[in-house]
Amino acid sequence: MADNTCKACRDDYKVTEAQMQRIMQTSAFAPERRVDAQQYQERLQLCSTCPKLSDGVTCTACGCIIPVVAWLKERACPLPGGGRWGKLTGQAPGGSVATAADEQLSPS
Ligand code: SF4
Repeated sequence: MADNTCKACRDDYKVTEAQMQRIMQTSAFAPERRVDAQQYQERLQLCSTCPKLSDGVTCTACGCIIPVVAWLKERACPLPGGGRWGKLTGQAPGGSVATAADEQLSPS
């Protein structure tokens, strides 16, 4: 009988560095779609203390490979209430980077 379970959900499945690097070479990760290195590290830091992070790699809330998707401006933490980190939508006054969560909190 065929095994129809998701192989990425099996306990023994590990995403390799080579697989992550291959994904990063695709057009989905073009430079204009990426956050800068500091923002990337901030996202990884926030995820590193999250109970949803499995093996330091996989977010069990969304199934994403965090060291990969944390590069994307358009990605956000899936936790309710805006999550631990948000989409990066542009420059905020004063030079810091605005997140989608910032914009929701801003008076209009
Ligand atoms: S994306 Fe959000 S829910 Fe997933 S591991 Fe990171 S902080 Fe936790």
